[in-house]
Amino acid sequence: MADSNALPLVILAENFAKLPGIGMKTAQRLAYFVMSMPEAEAQAFADAIMTAHKTVHECSICCNLTDKELCPVCANGKRDNSIICVVESPKDVTAFERTKEYHGVYHVLHGLISPLDNVMPDKLRIKELLARLSDGSVKEVVMATNPTVEGEATAMYISRLLKPLGVKVTRLAFGLPVGAVLEYADEVTLFKALENRNEI
Ligand SMILES: [Zn+2]
Repeated sequence: MADSNALPLVILAENFAKLPGIGMKTAQRLAYFVMSMPEAEAQAFADAIMTAHKTVHECSICCNLTDKELCPVCANGKRDNSIICVVESPKDVTAFERTKEYHGVYHVLHGLISPLDNVMPDKLRIKELLARLSDGSVKEVVMATNPTVEGEATAMYISRLLKPLGVKVTRLAFGLPVGAVLEYADEVTLFKALENRNEI
């Protein structure tokens, strides 16, 4: 933004520009849009950010995001706790839940191993996953990370950790094109990928 702009407006635009996929031009447009909102609406917008930030945390079992102690899947007594679908992010849980065909539970890693971006295994919720396997009640772990370089590397890394524990580790059968993003896959494609999973 030009020097002619009021500083609070510049700061607002700079904050919008921190959001993924938002360039400086869009950020400026959003900042002007916020200025055009009625004050009550702007307040509600700011409050929504803070409320979500303060009340949403990771489920104590699967690490999905929730505002309760347990997420709705872990709190549902009818889910099959012997099968865990391991995904990169909460968005992927939403994608699998849309299929309405998966009745197991999830584990959210909150990222993928990516040495180039300095994301090492210790940054992911891998030890939380291992802890869930310690009582022997889990029979299968489905590695449902995206079919990208990082997704494959993460699936392989975790499967090597799990194999010695005697748990069956499977991988989605990707009719999905390589590099496809689970979040955008339609329900049928995703269900097929899950149904035809292969042991790795
Ligand atoms: Zn959970």
